[in-house]
Amino acid sequence: MSEAPAGSQRAAKRRSLVVGNWKMNGSAASNEALLAALKAAPLGDAEVSVCVPAVYLHDVADSLHGGAVHWGAQDCSSHESGAYTGEISAAMLAEFGCCHVIVGHSERRALHGESDALVAQKAATALKHGLVPILCVGETLAEREAGQTEAVVGRQLGAAIALLDKRIDGVVVAYEPVWAIGTGKTASPAEAQAVHSFLRKSLAAAGATSGSLRILYGGSVKADNAAQLFAEADIDGGLIGGASLKAADFIAICRAAG
Ligand code: PEP
Repeated sequence: MSEAPAGSQRAAKRRSLVVGNWKMNGSAASNEALLAALKAAPLGDAEVSVCVPAVYLHDVADSLHGGAVHWGAQDCSSHESGAYTGEISAAMLAEFGCCHVIVGHSERRALHGESDALVAQKAATALKHGLVPILCVGETLAEREAGQTEAVVGRQLGAAIALLDKRIDGVVVAYEPVWAIGTGKTASPAEAQAVHSFLRKSLAAAGATSGSLRILYGGSVKADNAAQLFAEADIDGGLIGGASLKAADFIAICRAAG
């Protein structure tokens, strides 16, 4: 474990959070089997949530209602309502009992051209409707190799801080190096901790109550590397893509966080 403030401070102040990002995967039948396995397993003490394709929210809410696992969506509109074909509003997600919504995932930034300002607006809209935005930040491999990691994640986080001001306290930040997402390459615990520490200091400098704000790591977290990553002082859990689709792996990751 790399040098950092005592991990026990995290335990006292911040409950770990593990969020599954199912992306565009699943079917009614496979979701049912996955959720049945999650509900039957001891998941440990971490908060657990699954962010599912929007068309399945009704079924997922029915299945998870009243249990320990929360649920959420993978994106929301920055608009309240209106002529935005194909978009889903934060108010709609709230109606389906969503707790979380991912905003600014690198796939949406890269494939849908989402800007830092748009992502910040999505986070603001989510907060307004009582959802917890999971604000994703992360650098590409080229940016890392050019020594720009802090500049990039600082800019992405800074856009949200500029718009949200004190409301930033209601956000969960997810550090997801783009080069580690779905590639099998994971940031080492020390590499991830260094960026998490930078993010927490940036939040503190902006006046956020950063001691209680959770910062998740995402990028090829697996059952066999989760515990080492989560042991770092500023890593408060994970945003899990591929491994969240396999019940045994996701359960093991949840337990590693709790
Ligand atoms: C993600 O998509 O948020 C993610 C972290 O994916 P994976 O775990 O598959 O790298």
